[in-house]
Amino acid sequence: MHVRAVIFDLDDTLFPQRRILGELAASLGIGGCPNSLRELHAGLGDQAPPLAALRRQLLARLRPDPQRNERLADLACCIPVAIATNGGPGQREKIRRLGLAGVIRQVFVSGELGARKPDPAFFAPVLAWANLPACHCLFVGDDPVCDIAGAQRAGLRTAWIDSGDRAPPSPAPDLAAATIEDLLPLIEPC
Ligand SMILES: [Mg+2]
Repeated sequence: MHVRAVIFDLDDTLFPQRRILGELAASLGIGGCPNSLRELHAGLGDQAPPLAALRRQLLARLRPDPQRNERLADLACCIPVAIATNGGPGQREKIRRLGLAGVIRQVFVSGELGARKPDPAFFAPVLAWANLPACHCLFVGDDPVCDIAGAQRAGLRTAWIDSGDRAPPSPAPDLAAATIEDLLPLIEPC
């Protein structure tokens, strides 16, 4: 698909956060695959360390993926590329630890913008940065509501990272793939 700018969600789009949370949960003696750090914290019950300590443990498990980062760098050489994520300052630390800070320089974090996906107020500064009609911009994300429905409402085209355990977005996204590695070849910068 031909697009002129690409905006990526971060968690479970550019890296497999839920898989890493599952590994962290196992190392702490509980099963299952938490969807978020807060869910992991709640799952640990009375044994739970402070949330900030769990966040540090999650960050310590993040590593650059040289192949993925190289392919993202190739894309960023051709067209404007950004990250747009819900969360707080910890999201920028994740980006650094994943080796993405030098690859994708434009980052939008909801805690800094004062609006969260799927609120259209989150997407407005993203589109202002792209300085393109929304229909030429592709939003890539894993969350059917926050990422796909939110970006669709703002007029962007959408690509869904389908982990296989969520109901498909409706209306359907323009593209879908199981992983970011599978998705990147489908994006044709123009
Ligand atoms: Mg996500």
